[in-house]
Amino acid sequence: MTIDLSARPVATTKMVGGRLCLDFVNTIGGRDSDPARSKKDPYAVIILRDKLNDFVDLLAWSRRAGLLTEAELQALIREGKRREAEAASVLARALALREAIYRICKAIVGKRSPQAVDMELLNQELAQARDHESLIAVADGFDWQWTGSSNELDRMLWPVARSAAEMLTMGDLTRLHACEGEGCGWLFEDTSRNRSRQWCTMEDCGNLAKVRRFRTRSRHTTKPRKSS
Ligand SMILES: [Zn+2]
Repeated sequence: MTIDLSARPVATTKMVGGRLCLDFVNTIGGRDSDPARSKKDPYAVIILRDKLNDFVDLLAWSRRAGLLTEAELQALIREGKRREAEAASVLARALALREAIYRICKAIVGKRSPQAVDMELLNQELAQARDHESLIAVADGFDWQWTGSSNELDRMLWPVARSAAEMLTMGDLTRLHACEGEGCGWLFEDTSRNRSRQWCTMEDCGNLAKVRRFRTRSRHTTKPRKSS
């Protein structure tokens, strides 16, 4: 049976974070604060509509992000089926990395220090990525290239870890934001000239907020009916 990656919901997810690692963090419908736990743990969230539910979803997202060629994807679909337990552990690592990057970003947005445990996890993934990097000469200079066999199931995690490291070391972290839409929390880099971006997208949270604002306004301006 052939697996159709384009049939997975994550295959058409919006890529609006402005960075690979942020788009990876946004592979969920949204995140809501968890009232039961948030007093003890400011990072406690409930994940709404997770789009990474199995290893194939991870491959579908990798294709969406342009991380792997069709041939590499097909090879990994086959390998994932053959090495099921290993594929499941790559998915678990992916989700752990995703949430660690999310919490590090939330700390930055909230002007707090990130938790050591999250930095440690990112560093572990980064070390694995670094093991597969080599510097090569290209036409107009030099570039990084991923090495290793095309059968390595975790190869999509390497560029994600590297993207997070690049953002943290070289990015303008004052431009990092979390969408304020209800139950959203998607992360993005605000690259607008006047730093005015508030929403993940205008079509989603932006419009919802507009509708809500309009409703509140019209409620406030409705004149009491005259009694005749
Ligand atoms: Zn949003």
